[in-house]
Amino acid sequence: MPDDLYVLYRGPLASCNYDCPYCPFAKRVDPPDLLRADRADLARFADWVEATTDRRLSVLFTPWGEGLTRSWYRETIVRLSHLPHVARVAIQTNLAARLSFLSTADTDTAALWATYHPGQVTRARFLARCRQLDEMGVRYSVGVVGLPAHYEEAVALRASLPPTVYVWINAAEGHVYTPSEEARWTALDPHFGDSVRPHASLGLPCHAGETAISVLGDGTVRRCHFIPTPLGNLYDDSWRAALQPRPCTNNLCDCHIGYVHLKPLALRDVYTDGLLERIPAAWPA
Ligand code: SF4
Ligand code: SF4
Repeated sequence: MPDDLYVLYRGPLASCNYDCPYCPFAKRVDPPDLLRADRADLARFADWVEATTDRRLSVLFTPWGEGLTRSWYRETIVRLSHLPHVARVAIQTNLAARLSFLSTADTDTAALWATYHPGQVTRARFLARCRQLDEMGVRYSVGVVGLPAHYEEAVALRASLPPTVYVWINAAEGHVYTPSEEARWTALDPHFGDSVRPHASLGLPCHAGETAISVLGDGTVRRCHFIPTPLGNLYDDSWRAALQPRPCTNNLCDCHIGYVHLKPLALRDVYTDGLLERIPAAWPA
């Protein structure tokens, strides 16, 4: 649809209940004034989504930390899921929070990008959350960071989930995979090859800044999370005139939420309606 706009939103929230050794936001606590600001920013953003009916909007919340432990993310997902011009509302989450709030969401629209963090939660507990999503009919993908120490857990997770659930593997930052390591992770996730090496992107056309944007809590609009130059602001409508085809100005794009928009990769054709929650259209493969 020509009026489709993918919006990645990241407010100031940067706290998390988990303590992953590979994460700078582990066990971080946000002060009350930051949480109040995050809540107010999200409410303003939700009002903008509700009012922007001339676009078909797909929204992915990509908080630095964990959002679903906060009532305002849960309520916003439910609220946005019922809007007719919102095609998708999804969030990246560790699934630690109670999920019953999704029973009041429109499950044609709400979806989750869930990550399993071995060492922070038992596999049994994580799988119980997944079963709850299955029972509620909520779309979700599940993923694991492809660290060598996670391999056995990733295999067990894949084996325990229904084949209808897509399990993705993210290449661990800074880890160089041998061909045999790459092969064994690819056996778990046939799309691991997209993640295993950063994509050379300089000068290549990218949907980001044309039909995808990144929005900060104060409404600053950038083309993606990885290029800091602002394109405008969401709340003064300056973003509208700024959207245009443009080449990438970074050397590399190594994050799934970025390179899915890199035009030569054509990953929008792979994920179609599941682009934001990371579910390939042809899944089960
Ligand atoms: S769950 Fe996510 S945000 Fe929280 S510590 Fe782990 S990686 Fe970081
Ligand atoms: S390729 Fe990646 S870094 Fe470059 S504009 Fe697209 S999303 Fe941003």
